[in-house]
Amino acid sequence: MKELYQKALELWGKDLQLNMVFEELGELITNLSRVIRGRTSPTDLAEEIADVEIMLEQLTYIYKLEEEVHHTKTEKLVRLQEKLGIHKKILWFNNSECPQCGKAIEDPKKIRANETGYSYCSDECAVKHVDENAPEGGY
Ligand SMILES: [Mg+2]
Ligand SMILES: [Zn+2]
Repeated sequence: MKELYQKALELWGKDLQLNMVFEELGELITNLSRVIRGRTSPTDLAEEIADVEIMLEQLTYIYKLEEEVHHTKTEKLVRLQEKLGIHKKILWFNNSECPQCGKAIEDPKKIRANETGYSYCSDECAVKHVDENAPEGGY
């Protein structure tokens, strides 16, 4: 996909591509409001959602944010899972092993815990857990 996005960027340039992001977001908003008002069927949404997803991927590509977006998205999904109670709610107490992945604690300072009571041995552990629970083919 990167090659394709690079070619699009070379052909149309950054400004035009950024304008396309606005344009596609606008089309999605318009279409969604029509669906909500019962003026069109939800299946029409698919095209606009696809357009927006493609432009968001290009936006991510233009600013080289692939890793940052993936990491932030995963972190947010971890938090969502925690809020919904999908992760095992196990507190550390005096455990010497991570209740989520079973690894021995290397550095207690790296333990990631939060107000919901979920905890992991590290940020990587939390991220790994949400990745393991991801649907096939990613998010
Ligand atoms: Mg569109
Ligand atoms: Zn762990």
